[in-house]
Amino acid sequence: MTTFEALGLDARLVRATDELGYVNPTTIQEQAIPVLMSGTKDFIGLAQTGTGKTAAFGLPLLQVVSATANYPQALVVCPTRELCLQIVKEIESFKKYLPGIAVVAVYGGASIGLQIRDIKRGVQIVVATPGRLIDLIERKAIPLDKIQYVVLDEADEMLNMGFQEDIEFILKNTPARESTWLFSATMPPEIRKVSKKYMKEPMEVTVGKVNTANASIDHQYYVSTAQHRYETLKRIIDFNPGIYGIIFTRTKADAQEICDRLTREGYDIDALHGDLSQQQRDKVMGQFRDKSLQLLIATDVAARGIDVVGITHVINYELPDDVEIYTHRSGRTGRAGNQGICVSIVHAKEMYKFKQIERINNSRFHKLDIPSGKDVCRKQFFHFMDKLLSADISHGDYETYVPMLSEKFAEVTKEEVLQRVAALEFDRFLKYYENAEDLNLRERERSKTGSLPALGGKMRSERAEGGRGDSRKEFSRSSSGGYKRLFVNLGTRDGFFKASFLQFILDMSDLKKEVLGKIDMKDMNSWIEIDKSSAQQMIRSLDGKKYKGRSIRMNDADSGAPPKARTKSYQ
Ligand code: AMP
Repeated sequence: MTTFEALGLDARLVRATDELGYVNPTTIQEQAIPVLMSGTKDFIGLAQTGTGKTAAFGLPLLQVVSATANYPQALVVCPTRELCLQIVKEIESFKKYLPGIAVVAVYGGASIGLQIRDIKRGVQIVVATPGRLIDLIERKAIPLDKIQYVVLDEADEMLNMGFQEDIEFILKNTPARESTWLFSATMPPEIRKVSKKYMKEPMEVTVGKVNTANASIDHQYYVSTAQHRYETLKRIIDFNPGIYGIIFTRTKADAQEICDRLTREGYDIDALHGDLSQQQRDKVMGQFRDKSLQLLIATDVAARGIDVVGITHVINYELPDDVEIYTHRSGRTGRAGNQGICVSIVHAKEMYKFKQIERINNSRFHKLDIPSGKDVCRKQFFHFMDKLLSADISHGDYETYVPMLSEKFAEVTKEEVLQRVAALEFDRFLKYYENAEDLNLRERERSKTGSLPALGGKMRSERAEGGRGDSRKEFSRSSSGGYKRLFVNLGTRDGFFKASFLQFILDMSDLKKEVLGKIDMKDMNSWIEIDKSSAQQMIRSLDGKKYKGRSIRMNDADSGAPPKARTKSYQ
């Protein structure tokens, strides 16, 4: 049995591992550490949690980064906030005797302002979840030009959670990347594809048996309430732009009602249930099979025996009572060597049933956060841009027409064209989601109501109604003195939509959405209604800060002299 010393680790790192009680390296550590310490090798480690993989990449990473260079050199990307914090904690304990190396955790749901400040202070290693990392990249708050090492931890989980584009975006935007180290419990084809595209002759090490149970179906669930089930369903559909799926309901009435609502709202869906004649059934099935229908909503009886290749998602609008039914439903996807996803919308009160299915079905289920409005818009945006970039222009007579437009477009920049195309395509989503509420049950609410199952609908519904409804109520309250109106010299010309602007000011100020009232955005300036008690915090957090290199000015819009608004001449 070898030792950490024999693997060639720095004595200070060996001392730290000794103190942690690590006597011998685990198998993955033994295989990975000597290779990764050479610093330039691409590496794939097929290892599950619990095999010591964090140390397998964390220790060599600490050895290869330079303590004297005060900028991010290594990026560790992982799927969840919990894992992100855990990795940072382990790296912190490994670097106990290495002075001058700093590591920072970057994840959603925490103040982005503080994270930006931490990065600016000078760090060598950034551990991040994909969504927040993309936010920071978009805000140019993290320099990527000198990132040499990118570690993708639990890569399969990240792909399962829909982060494929984000991962590729990160890999594409790290031009100085010399080494990519990918860790994953399974090796689905998507990961193979990513590795082929972005890695050079990676060394591959497998520890133990690679997870094969239900490898072709990923089981996911979202915890919602009866009241928000329909809205959650819509978020799931909107968050998966290329979805080709079947939604299961328990009753014919539900199938028809949801189908009617979704159709009215512009979705490409039809229903399949026992009230249809054979002819109607055949027609619906025919349309679904040839993909002129994107979604099918069905009861179990009606969907019996459906065998359609290429279904990406099965969605359980409600959990079935019977494990066998669950297995039958989920088996509509992940066929013929394809990967599939089975999503369940689970009520807090149904958790016991869900656990039972999980145990009997012997699969690992992944709990996901219900995507926020911002997540949905971003997902749709990237999906559309990918479609735009891969559009086939080889057939049309575009070469003849496009030059004719050059005069029309002479004054418009490429960015503006993209923004306009996006506006045409996304207005529906942005309008719908700009004030979308958070549908997830938060810890805060859980503790207020005691245990999770006790939550039920009431608490949640009170809060939910406090979303849009309350803000209108509060708005009228503003005239009686509850709000202050702030002026800020940022507007739509700065690339903001209302939703992204809201997110920006909340992230910067670390305030909650509830403190805000009406937001009035113009090209160059905006006016924000904010609870009086939070106004100073908002001003302190934004006034004088920079956005895209320009100073932000924020002040009380109604005190003394009228605010000097930015005029159109500003560029
Ligand atoms: P991981 O697979 O990175 O989640 O690690 C699982 C657990 O194993 C963590 O609690 C580590 O602290 C621990 N661990 C990692 N490497 C070793 C080692 N060489 N000897 C003993 N424990 C270890």
